[in-house]
Amino acid sequence: MKCIFAFSFLPFNVYAMVSTIITFRDPNSDILNKPSAKIGVFDAELKKVARDMEEILLNLADAGLGLAAPQIGISRAIFAIRFGREVKFYCNPVIKDLSSEQEIMEEGCLSFPEIFFKIKRAKKVILVYQDLLGRNKTEKAEGILARAFQHETDHLNGITFDQKAR
Ligand SMILES: [Zn+2]
Repeated sequence: MKCIFAFSFLPFNVYAMVSTIITFRDPNSDILNKPSAKIGVFDAELKKVARDMEEILLNLADAGLGLAAPQIGISRAIFAIRFGREVKFYCNPVIKDLSSEQEIMEEGCLSFPEIFFKIKRAKKVILVYQDLLGRNKTEKAEGILARAFQHETDHLNGITFDQKAR
C-alpha cells in the first residue's frame, strides 16, 4: 500500500501555489534540515501561517495529507494534517509513545516531488501538542495518521524522510 503525503499529478491551477513549497532542489532547502523554533505565542501571525498552510493543503489533489511550516519557508513548530475538507493544526508536537510494532510503507513528501521511499515507522503513536489557542492536547493515532504524525514531527526536527529511507 502506498502512503502518500504528496502526489504526482496536479491540476494546472495549483502549480503557482505549490511552487511556494520548498523542495530539496531549491537553493533555500537548508531550512528543511533545520530544527524549527518552538511556538511560544499563539497570536494572529500564527493563525496567518495556519491559514496559508490550510489553503495550500486544500488546493492540492486529494492525496496531499500533511504539511509542515518549514516546507513553506517558516521555521516554526507547526504542522497541518488534512482530513477531507478539514485541516487540523499541531503546534509544538512531541511524539510521546511509539509502539514497538513497526511497519514499512512507501511514503512521499511535498518537498520531494515524485520521489517515494520505503520507511519503517511505529504503527501507533501518542502525540502531545498544542492547538492554535495554545491548549495542551493528546492524540492517539495508528496506521497512516500515525505515520503522518511521525513524518511531520520529523520535519519540525529538521529531519527529512530521505534520511530514514531504507
Ligand atoms: Zn514531508
